[in-house]
Amino acid sequence: MKKTKRKWIVAIVVTAVFPLVFVLLILASIFGIDMDADDVMDGGGCSPIGGVDMSAWDATFTKAGVLKDKGDKIKEVATKQGIDPILFAAIAFNETGWGTSRAVVEKNNPGGLMDAATGMSTVKVFATLDEGLEAMGVTLHNRIVKDGLNTVEKLGAVYAPIGVANDPNGLNVNWVPTVNGMIQKLGGLSMNCSTTSAGTGQYIIPVDTPNVSSGFVDRINPVTGVPEHHKGIDFAQPMLSNIKAADDGVVVFAGMGVSGSGFGGYGNVILLEHAKTKEWTLYGHQSGILVKVGQVVRKGDVIGKVGSTGQSTGPHLHFEIRKEKMGGQIDPAPVLGVQTKN
Ligand SMILES: [Zn+2]
Repeated sequence: MKKTKRKWIVAIVVTAVFPLVFVLLILASIFGIDMDADDVMDGGGCSPIGGVDMSAWDATFTKAGVLKDKGDKIKEVATKQGIDPILFAAIAFNETGWGTSRAVVEKNNPGGLMDAATGMSTVKVFATLDEGLEAMGVTLHNRIVKDGLNTVEKLGAVYAPIGVANDPNGLNVNWVPTVNGMIQKLGGLSMNCSTTSAGTGQYIIPVDTPNVSSGFVDRINPVTGVPEHHKGIDFAQPMLSNIKAADDGVVVFAGMGVSGSGFGGYGNVILLEHAKTKEWTLYGHQSGILVKVGQVVRKGDVIGKVGSTGQSTGPHLHFEIRKEKMGGQIDPAPVLGVQTKN
């Protein structure tokens, strides 16, 4: 109780003195929830719709305070995170009052990320502005690609909800129009992120005939002869039959799982990231891959063809459901409603 009262007093003082900083803190409390530096993805859910208008981009950056020389860095991080650099820049300008807020000037924190070490009670300090931009990119990826907040309106509803108690001056109502105005100044969006559907959360069986030849069990690896836990289920299928996306998602890995890639033994393999379930599905041992990293796929889309590449003794699809990008496999059989014999 006491703590809540004190927070309010602090809040009122801050509102009176630094309205900009206060808004930043409100946004940051939502913005920084799952700051996780190692949660970087390979792909993204935004498709190019024309390039960046470099003259508008450069002209806008000249008045961006401490961010004025960070145009290239923002592009680099946005590319890595599979999101639109225009959207990234517009949100950074808005969060920092055109690169002038105390958070960005004194703490190298352009995204208003809170510090987990202080229980999210203070703005996180970064050693360099580049580090702060990298962290902001991870968070934006999580909001836009993972959570499916793929329009300015959807982002605004989460970052700056209208009518909430911690927005006594009603400043949140400005978030969407201000960000949209900055996007226009920057030359307009260069990617369409709204093509990413969050998906249904209900996976379909990714092959035409649900013929399970090996379940999610401890077994002797048929290729190496070594005991192992089989981390997925195998569907025995005719060579070159269709492999379908289990739900809407984004391709985050597509290629030969060479040793050291994290996908060794899987042969030609695809990993999809699903925003709705916050899970990944994996499709191994393919003869041919029909999608590439960054591509948005729909549930039921044919993404590859059954093969026997990698550690495999015959044509089949090895299918996994993962709670983490590089692990956390669960048994797909009960999720898909298929029977496994072994
Ligand atoms: Zn398998």
